[in-house]
Amino acid sequence: MDDLPVVVIGAGPIGLAAAAQLVERGLEPLVLEAGPVAGSAVREWSHVRLFSTWGELVDPAAEKLLAPTGWVRPDGTTYPTGGDWAERYLQPLADVLGEKVRYGAQVTGVARAGRDRIVDAGRDEQPFTVHVRSADGREERVTARAVIDASGTWSTPSPVGADGLPALGEKAAADRVSYRVPDLNDPAVRARYVGRRTAVVGSGASAFTALALLADLAKEEEGTHAVWILRRGIGANTYGGGEADQLPARGALGLRAKAAVEAGHASAATGFRTQAVERDGGRLVLVAEDGGRLDPVDEVIVLTGFRPDLSFLSELRLGLDERLQAPTALAPLIDPNVHSCGTVYPHGVNELSHPEQGVYLVGMKSYGRAPTFLAMTGYEQVRSIAAAIAGDQEAAERVELTLPETGVCGGAGLFDEPENAEQSGGCCAAPATLQIGIGAPATTSGGC
Ligand SMILES: Cc1cc2nc3c(=O)[nH]c(=O)nc-3n(C[C@H](O)[C@H](O)[C@H](O)COP(=O)(O)OP(=O)(O)OC[C@H]3O[C@@H](n4cnc5c(N)ncnc54)[C@H](O)[C@@H]3O)c2cc1C
Repeated sequence: MDDLPVVVIGAGPIGLAAAAQLVERGLEPLVLEAGPVAGSAVREWSHVRLFSTWGELVDPAAEKLLAPTGWVRPDGTTYPTGGDWAERYLQPLADVLGEKVRYGAQVTGVARAGRDRIVDAGRDEQPFTVHVRSADGREERVTARAVIDASGTWSTPSPVGADGLPALGEKAAADRVSYRVPDLNDPAVRARYVGRRTAVVGSGASAFTALALLADLAKEEEGTHAVWILRRGIGANTYGGGEADQLPARGALGLRAKAAVEAGHASAATGFRTQAVERDGGRLVLVAEDGGRLDPVDEVIVLTGFRPDLSFLSELRLGLDERLQAPTALAPLIDPNVHSCGTVYPHGVNELSHPEQGVYLVGMKSYGRAPTFLAMTGYEQVRSIAAAIAGDQEAAERVELTLPETGVCGGAGLFDEPENAEQSGGCCAAPATLQIGIGAPATTSGGC
């Protein structure tokens, strides 16, 4: 099996870093990317400025691979947009990897060759078979010694329904409901929100960004207004860590959202758990589970987080946490029900292994529904996994990362399950505390 490639699913930041780490270990990666270019998902939010600096967004093994091409890392103290990240780093990295990256290659299934999920006999000796559909519809099978799934969660955003399922009427209102931070530089997108009333649902970094953008628009265009829908009330930490956040740009996002509310460009509707999206002439009315109704809006932006697509892994024996859909050993480290401060320890192969040996979920997908993933966490994940596949157990178990803190430990947080949060132990002593999520659910947890 050792002469087979390690298949990496997805040419996003973490999939490409995995490939770079494997190359550094003398292993053969094959990256299968559904989109036509590197960072296909990142390019869909190319207008969003990251809250991490360039210094936090480049994988060390990737940088080594790029160095001989004359590539120089952009100023480590500056903040790229998603578009910058893709064009100035991800695509050059994929280009160096050359034929090790295939585009228009969508993975539709992963299994043990000749063994469905229930068969034990000889299972561990079988390689993996990866089912691939090309952009032209052609189907093929790729045989692999191991599979690293870095396919992200971008294509599976959470719905507006507070019960985790689409709200009544949500799908029928698709022409007015978006699950993206709007790109207001795009005239067609801008026209949707100019002079309009827009509901923004969610309480993470993406919701903060959308509120801040709409507030800027409201300053220029009369009649533009945002209604911020929160499942919780507004508390001390609603706006994140602010100036105490060790990632200052992340802290600033919350402060911009706060300014939007204080200036009257956005009004908050708190304790609102959406059950239905109703049509009212050309407008939409959000209806809560308790029967409460909001004044009509023209548009709804849903930024309630993401969830992993596990459908193409159904023939594998994965060990996943029932709440977060993250690897079982990782879940307690990122589950705000347990660690109400969102404490995250750097982690690697031990936390990311499954009953099915040789398959790993990494990157954004590894966090399941937890909203606090950072690229640097993913780089550490794949460094450890590549070392393990290469047989270097000592390097695989070594931790080579210190994560920054949000400065929001205590009081309200991301998830509104206060009864669980009350049971949580002292979570603040850990080396890394991350709380503000990307498109986090509009919910809260208790303090620690
Ligand atoms: C708006 C936004 C802002 C963020 N800002 C920051 C930040 O400032 N700092 C930070 O550290 N993190 C940030 N993140 C979080 C995280 O770092 C990024 O989401 C990052 O892109 C995750 O990388 P990934 O490789 O895991 O997944 P992705 O970037 O989503 O890449 C997955 C790739 O897999 C491909 N793919 C999907 N399914 C398949 C399939 N079946 N077969 C083949 N290919 C497939 C996709 O096309 C995509 O190219 C942000 C996230 C978002 C959404």
